[in-house]
Amino acid sequence: MTETVETRPFEARVQELLNLMIHSLYTEKEIFLRELVSNASDALDKLRFESLTTSGLLDEGEELAITLEVDVAARTLSVIDNGIGMDRDELIANLGTIASSGTQRFLEEVSSSKGATAPELIGQFGVGFYSSFMVAEEVSVVSRKAGGGEGHRWRSEADGNYTIEPAPGARRGTCVTLLLAEREGEEGESPDFLDEGTLRSLVRRSSDFVEYPIRLGDDVLNSQKPLWARPKDELSEDDHREFYQHLTHDWHPPAQTIHFKAEGAHEFTALLYIPSARPANLFGADAARTQLSLYVKRVFITAECEDLLPPWLRFVRGVVEASDLPLNVSRETLQANPQVRQIRKSLTKKILATLEALRDRDREAYRGVWDAFGSVLKEGLCMGEDPDGKLAGLSLLETSRGEERTTLGEYVERMGEDQEAIWTLLGPDRATLDASPLVEPLRARGWEVLYLTDPVDEWMVDRLTEFDGHPLKSVHAADLDLGDDEGAERASAAAEASADLLEALAEHLGDEVSKVRFSTRLVESPAVLVSEAGPPRPHLERALREGGMAPDLPPVGRILELHPGHPLIERLCAMHAEAASDPRLFDFADLLHGQALLAEGAPPRDPARFARLVTDLMTSAP
Ligand code: ADP
Repeated sequence: MTETVETRPFEARVQELLNLMIHSLYTEKEIFLRELVSNASDALDKLRFESLTTSGLLDEGEELAITLEVDVAARTLSVIDNGIGMDRDELIANLGTIASSGTQRFLEEVSSSKGATAPELIGQFGVGFYSSFMVAEEVSVVSRKAGGGEGHRWRSEADGNYTIEPAPGARRGTCVTLLLAEREGEEGESPDFLDEGTLRSLVRRSSDFVEYPIRLGDDVLNSQKPLWARPKDELSEDDHREFYQHLTHDWHPPAQTIHFKAEGAHEFTALLYIPSARPANLFGADAARTQLSLYVKRVFITAECEDLLPPWLRFVRGVVEASDLPLNVSRETLQANPQVRQIRKSLTKKILATLEALRDRDREAYRGVWDAFGSVLKEGLCMGEDPDGKLAGLSLLETSRGEERTTLGEYVERMGEDQEAIWTLLGPDRATLDASPLVEPLRARGWEVLYLTDPVDEWMVDRLTEFDGHPLKSVHAADLDLGDDEGAERASAAAEASADLLEALAEHLGDEVSKVRFSTRLVESPAVLVSEAGPPRPHLERALREGGMAPDLPPVGRILELHPGHPLIERLCAMHAEAASDPRLFDFADLLHGQALLAEGAPPRDPARFARLVTDLMTSAP
């Protein structure tokens, strides 16, 4: 059976996207050219890489290039490459569905914002191939896969369908032909894409650094100098913005640009960008891996070279070009390559130094970067990959000192002479921790407490046990010793006098607590819950149980501490002395325990009973 023309419907989301494109009043329609050139350049990269290991893909002495062709009479503009090409299935999969995550994200952003912003978003995102429909009535793509069979023609007028048919005699690579829409009444607004001068200046502006020649007639329109290979001071912010957008499809300009050349035993050039906004796919099972492109002597090797950066720097984007790696490195052997490891070390060092400099120079900008990527950086701390404390020093943490977050270095500078540790407290948020009874004794001594409110902090505290020679200690610890002799004496005297009471309360509270004791630390609050050392910590434990990850996790017994000097506790002792069987004692115990849980942002174990006890108490108040 011979293949004939087949008509197929677009995936629903593609049609949605095409409608947006066609009806867009977006003024910078010219971005379509940047997108098509960028696709052509990727296709050439892929072919060049494949041809390193598969022979016969490239003809002897053949030049890899991108060609623009204009037919003024027919009103067509073609973007042609002799790259990897697409077979029939790939044409259907790549051009009939939404494959790229950037486009997916664009659609999500459009549907979550008002329709009015869609036109701006188009330009900011760069939605790939489909942006052709902003300027074309009809798009035809003829492609033949390198090393594959016959070519195919894909064609669409964006009317809900596309056709696909064999294209015998097609050359290897891809030719995208746009039948340009008439520019009625648009003169002066939208450039004429059939005009040579227009094309020339567009290519220079947005695709100059593309490494393959972009030809129009006999001329090469671009300088082809990869941005990273040019002297640092020759590059403008605009150059970087264009290049960054070409790499990432992120429409926010990068927060930081790092461009350097390492000389010496292993030479390499790196052009790295720290984005200013967090991409959607940074966490979770399908989280993006490190996305650095690796080149060896101008030859593109891979766009996702994981081995060039530790996973906790996976948000950094850019290009690394090494001059003395073997050209036939496979992605598998990269990891074991000592030079790659050396580069990774040096990139890591450079990125951390850049972040440190930004932290010290421009706190506001740094705050933005930390808010976007702090949780990722902390993964490095959780993995114990911070031998010299640099990552720890980059953390911005909430503090009892005030609204403004602090670094550990600043904390240490403020530490009192008598302060033996960097004090920390884990919890859900700043407000809750600020009101915690556990902070009271430290505040009374003028000591600052760091509030660890990020979920990942639960894991971080296991590894981050010291900074700059000072231990980090949790004020939550049952064995906290603040050196308060008076408090200790008072607590032990009370314990002697009311040993029976403590035992009776503990028995009543059952599994919820492992012990009830008098506190040496409390200042104002009557009671607090503290924990024995070792995980799981209370918040983590609750999260695991409530999140369904460990529903049967037995509650870890906590210690309920009572403030021996507090009038309420004194009254409790007096009641017990009068009548050890007074049932109100147990109501009080439940109220105190519930209150201690509330203070750490958790519900009392039996909220209904807790509410009833509070009501009774208020009703019986004189
Ligand atoms: P993106 O480039 O962001 O992935 P596009 O919609 O522009 O999204 O392209 C979708 C896919 O179609 C590309 O990922 C690529 O696999 C394929 N493609 C597009 N243009 C070409 C081309 N000129 N040569 C080979 N493949 C191409």
